[in-house]
Amino acid sequence: MVILHQLPRLHSSIFLTKTPFLYNHFNLLPKPKLPTKNTSTLFSALNSTLSTTSEPIPLPTHNLDIPEETHVPISIEKLFIPPDTDVSSDTAASLSTRILKGSNIVLSKYARDAQVSQADFVKSSVDTQACPSDGLPEFALVGRSNVGKSSLLNSIVRRKKLALTSKKPGKTQCINHFRINDSWYLVDLPGYGYAAAPHELRIDWEKFTKDYFLNRSTLVSVFLLIDASIPAKKIDLEYASWLGENQVPMTLVFTKCDKRKKRKNGGKRPEENVNDFQELIRGFFQTAPPWIMTSSVTNQGRDEILLHMAQLRNYWLKH
Ligand code: GDP
Repeated sequence: MVILHQLPRLHSSIFLTKTPFLYNHFNLLPKPKLPTKNTSTLFSALNSTLSTTSEPIPLPTHNLDIPEETHVPISIEKLFIPPDTDVSSDTAASLSTRILKGSNIVLSKYARDAQVSQADFVKSSVDTQACPSDGLPEFALVGRSNVGKSSLLNSIVRRKKLALTSKKPGKTQCINHFRINDSWYLVDLPGYGYAAAPHELRIDWEKFTKDYFLNRSTLVSVFLLIDASIPAKKIDLEYASWLGENQVPMTLVFTKCDKRKKRKNGGKRPEENVNDFQELIRGFFQTAPPWIMTSSVTNQGRDEILLHMAQLRNYWLKH
């Protein structure tokens, strides 16, 4: 299993070249700088990926609508620095140009091949042993019922109804595999928190997911979905803490970030809920897990999730 929270060393100036696509995903505008030798190699790889796919990722215009407070600077100890990435020679300003917008995720040299050109439902499995055995890397989406998991999955693959496959009778409590570009999997896991009785929840959780998390050798990272439009729920905190304590690599995906509660009604803004959640789980992680804000309504975070998955995947394939 890949240890995502380690911080090995690598020269970092490779990210300072101007590339309009990538820059749109950063929290701040980069300071202009001439490319180094390493830079041209990286970006020729990125550009060739971007220009050769049949479905280029358009610039996400929704980002223009994100209020300024979404872009608060994040202190370095709260950043997720992918493995094989060195930030020791970065200044605060140069590092901020490498953070994916609406997240704490630093972009690494492994962020390439991030487009989805093909997505197919492959199979529903009743347990880990029955899952595909072709060894392709995979990312598991999991979250409380109604968190927006199906909407996010459809948004990521740009297919309106692909995730409906997992909602068909008999499949809601299964591990559902979707093959992307014939090279990796998105996995839809059963939602939790649906039944009211805590005992039942625990059985569901153990039966369908615990074994998968602990024994699925091709699992690169769990993507735990949390509704950012409401305060943290106990069951979500328990889920996150279990993953942390068992050292299962996890990315927090905050959903419904377009829903902005009126302060006068006592509601918190999504970014406040995002901060609160992280404070509450801090004790369960040695280093800050990656997190990213999304909305399936505006498609906020969609391209950033794909870049994050790409860099985790490409690192995993190399190690
Ligand atoms: P699932 O049960 O986790 O698969 O959740 P769904 O994707 O079916 O979504 C549950 C409800 O939340 C539906 O009414 C969706 O329209 C709504 N929803 C999902 N994602 C978003 C989002 O990003 N923003 C808003 N405002 N609503 C969303």
